[in-house]
Amino acid sequence: MSTVHRGSCLCGGVRYEYRGEIGLFTLCHCSQCRKAQGSAFVAVVPVAEDGFSLLQGADLLKSYTSSPGKERVFCGVCGSPLYSRHVGKPGVLRLRAGTLDTPVGRRPDAHIFVASKADWYEPSDGVAQFAERPETH
Ligand SMILES: [Zn+2]
Ligand SMILES: [Zn+2]
Repeated sequence: MSTVHRGSCLCGGVRYEYRGEIGLFTLCHCSQCRKAQGSAFVAVVPVAEDGFSLLQGADLLKSYTSSPGKERVFCGVCGSPLYSRHVGKPGVLRLRAGTLDTPVGRRPDAHIFVASKADWYEPSDGVAQFAERPETH
């Protein structure tokens, strides 16, 4: 039994579906993620690429290589960040949880790169915090 997750970008041009398990659910406070989202952190649910399908809008996707081997994929019309991928982790898409239209069904597992966080935000949700990455990340 696998859960079906569905999501979309702000303009609705890109729609996707994911069938499978969700990995370590992280909130990343690194400076690149803060800039990419325009916010205090990015909420990421890692998913298996083979369970992920674009239902529409594949032609709207654009990507930006923010560091060697790391590509950030977004909607070219509305700018919604959708997922990132890294050549070092083949088969995994790091989906932006804020684009999901269906419930994730669980709380985040960890705040990561808290050492780089914005000075105006203090995580106080009881979720584990890591200065950089947890060992398993
Ligand atoms: Zn869009
Ligand atoms: Zn980050």
